[in-house]
Amino acid sequence: MNIKLQKSCYFVVFFITISMLTAAAELPGISILATGGTIAGSGVSATGSAYKAAVNPVDKVIAAVPEVNNIARIRGDQICNISSQDMKPEYWLKLAARINQLFRLDLADGVVITHGTDTMEETAYFLNLTVAYDKPVVLTGSMRPGSALSADGAMNLYNAVAVASAREARNKGVLVVMNDRIYSARGVRKCDTINPAAFNDRENGPIGRVNYGKVSFNNRSDKKHTYQSLLKLPFFAGNLPEVPIVYGYAGINPQMVETICKSGIRGLVYAGVGNGNPSEEVLNVLAKASADGITVVRATRVPDGPVTLDAEVDDAKFGFIVADSLTPQKARILLMLALHKNFARADIQQFFFDY
Ligand code: ASP
Repeated sequence: MNIKLQKSCYFVVFFITISMLTAAAELPGISILATGGTIAGSGVSATGSAYKAAVNPVDKVIAAVPEVNNIARIRGDQICNISSQDMKPEYWLKLAARINQLFRLDLADGVVITHGTDTMEETAYFLNLTVAYDKPVVLTGSMRPGSALSADGAMNLYNAVAVASAREARNKGVLVVMNDRIYSARGVRKCDTINPAAFNDRENGPIGRVNYGKVSFNNRSDKKHTYQSLLKLPFFAGNLPEVPIVYGYAGINPQMVETICKSGIRGLVYAGVGNGNPSEEVLNVLAKASADGITVVRATRVPDGPVTLDAEVDDAKFGFIVADSLTPQKARILLMLALHKNFARADIQQFFFDY
């Protein structure tokens, strides 16, 4: 090769390297915070149903989808590696602190959380109330482990990174991306135990779609973003109070509810029948608990519709709060945070309508 040709080759290689570096630097920075779940799981057979969740570490989960590196600068971080039936407030606090730190220090443009699907909606809603920035935070997972035929985790992760990278995803609250659809934290819930199309928001539907990484939000307006929520937490938040959920049913034993009320709790969510109704005997127990200073929230076991104030139950008289359209498990999260911050009942009731 003559000297002139060699020089031009060097120049071309140099130019390509610089352009590649510049292009990479322009990609959004996305932190993937891994918590476990089926997306990190594995089974022995591609067609058998048996598998173990939360076996692969974050690096392996990301390495299974190298395409994410074409759309973002990826950084992985292991928060925990558990099945989400083992999720607890301790990990919620860790996640919230980590995300707030990443955004405060400008270390990420968006965050994706890989999570088991069983309690994904609870973590999403907790973060919706406690992340203090408007940058995208997206939870995703999978219904099938990577070892299964037609596993859904890889595309879900790719799509979640695409949504977390999208400018339009800002200021929309914490999002859940599953099976090509984008949901808001407040309304999303797991509605199927085994199907990959497991998630839905029965009241509002999805707020957008993501197809092979192409993100589109629909125009339906959503509850306001809660990054300025009065429930956000300091970095060291301490322990959240214990708040049990009591599930209502025909013939419920009021003594069982009384025992729970006497166990030192500060608040309780009653997942009542119909419009959050307790039986007369349970009503008496809850009324006494409320008078003794326990904050009682009426939610419902019915899938659709809000729990409304002062219908069959005189909430004003008993000092009860209604959960509006929050599921019992999300009502519990809001109540834990509100009690932790010592808000008055009237404020807490307003939070249920606003957040
Ligand atoms: N039990 C699993 C979990 O929630 C299910 C899943 O991830 O789909 O971790």
